[in-house]
Amino acid sequence: MKKTKNLTPFYAVVFSIFIVFAIASIMVFFHYNRKEIENNAQQVAKDDVESAAFHTNSIFELQYDFLQGVADCLGDSTDTITADLLPLIENISNSNSLNLIALIDADGNAYYSDGSTGNVGDREYFQASLAGEYALSTPIVSRASGKTRIILSVPIWHEDTVIGVLGGSYDIDSLAELLFDFSSGETGHYILSTRDGTVICTVPSSSSDEAEEESEVGTDSADSSEQSAIFTLSANDSLFDIYNHLVTVRSTTYIDEETGKKTSFSATAWKDDYENGRSNLVTFNLTTESYYFCYKVLGDAEDASSVLSNWMLCYIVSVDDAHRDYSTFTAYQTRLFQVLAAGLLVMLLVILIATFRKQKSLVHFAETDLLTGINNKKTTEEYIKLWLADEACFGTQAFLMVDIDHFKGVNDAYGHAVGDIVLSKIGQGLKNIFRESDIIGRLGGDEFGIFMKNASPEIAVEKAEQISQMVRSIRVDAHPELLPTVSIGVSLFPQHAKNFMDLYKKADSALYIAKNNGRDQYVLYDIRTME
Ligand code: GH3
Ligand code: MG
Repeated sequence: MKKTKNLTPFYAVVFSIFIVFAIASIMVFFHYNRKEIENNAQQVAKDDVESAAFHTNSIFELQYDFLQGVADCLGDSTDTITADLLPLIENISNSNSLNLIALIDADGNAYYSDGSTGNVGDREYFQASLAGEYALSTPIVSRASGKTRIILSVPIWHEDTVIGVLGGSYDIDSLAELLFDFSSGETGHYILSTRDGTVICTVPSSSSDEAEEESEVGTDSADSSEQSAIFTLSANDSLFDIYNHLVTVRSTTYIDEETGKKTSFSATAWKDDYENGRSNLVTFNLTTESYYFCYKVLGDAEDASSVLSNWMLCYIVSVDDAHRDYSTFTAYQTRLFQVLAAGLLVMLLVILIATFRKQKSLVHFAETDLLTGINNKKTTEEYIKLWLADEACFGTQAFLMVDIDHFKGVNDAYGHAVGDIVLSKIGQGLKNIFRESDIIGRLGGDEFGIFMKNASPEIAVEKAEQISQMVRSIRVDAHPELLPTVSIGVSLFPQHAKNFMDLYKKADSALYIAKNNGRDQYVLYDIRTME
């Protein structure tokens, strides 16, 4: 009989490959999904900064229109700027969100809407507006109130001459509030700065008490010091300095607006973008969190006369926050992955168990004699040979060869089916007599072989007698007159034989004697008489 091939490793390999493939496919799927989420979130960040820039631009345009309207009125009605015009602008400032309005004559003497005065002749914005331009100052500390402010200024024309300047100022906090009130509910931070990186204001404003407290409380961890470097900037700080503060930056990714390519980012590249008024999106990976930095010029970068072309708006949002809208989707993905992985594992397990069971039943089928349920000839011989080579095999081993007497006659008289019943009952009876560890088999036809491990001659003959009695007691219901008997030959290892073949032959010789002596008996091989 051919050896049964063990298919379990083959199935294990096939299913391992399948599982690796399935997991790889899921990972690829997740990877592209994550990419898609990342792209969407970055686009949202860009759109946010775009609309904030638009909003800011509109506010400034309105303020300049308003100031120019007032300046035109003043220019039409007078050719000299004096303090006498003050009551007029006092009324105007009450109806406008500008904190303070200043009427400045050609010599730089400023008359403020709150009644104070001063000279701003050396201020850049004054000089630019006196030259006929709209101007916007960087944050300056007001000489009048000591508050940090930015100033919008327009020229006052009388006919073809600039006779003075009309300025309006915002203090930084109210500017931040005004510019970004629409951003309430958003998780990101805005930083308004000039192109050379001078911070004008931030939202949430770092100059507020709340932000200062926050940064003080959180200074003990690396994460919060990174955060405070980003979020506690105040007016006139350099935006680019925070690049040096971000000591724990792992990597930064820089997207080239034109090519869409990602490259590594540096402070120089960042400054360069600001200098040239370019928009971009950068990902900073800090120790515990990543951030998107998205920036855009406020006015028209190409148009030098555009007042806001010197201002940049930067939006900073943590990647986690930016991806939050997709978190439900990501959670479902994870759940899906878990369910799939569990399903695959269960499937693998079920298949392995089924294969193992099938294998076992195939082996059993190949080893067993179907009629009697005991080992077939080939298996019996293999087990005996294996045992004889085993180191646990010591002392006497006994081999009993059992053959039914006149079995041909049984078949002839009662039919083959009755013969089969007798064979099967003997097989069952033998199993009851011997130990689990003994080897019982049907050697062919009406012949059985029993190998008793580590037995003694006495026990062997005793068992032979038990077999005889067991067979004698067998009855077939429909034929009570059928009284089967067996003849038994017993040989011993190593007393009678040195190998299985010999042992078999010696038992066969003893069996032959038993048959000759009249059957229904056992004979122990005798080396002196039977050699
Ligand atoms: P002896 O006492 O000398 O052994 O006489 P015997 O008639 O038993 O002779 P032998 O052992 O040579 O005959 C074996 C017979 O067993 C031959 C065959 O008809 C019968 N036999 C073999 N296999 C089967 C089987 O699977 N079922 C049945 N019913 N009979 C079988
Ligand atoms: Mg026989």
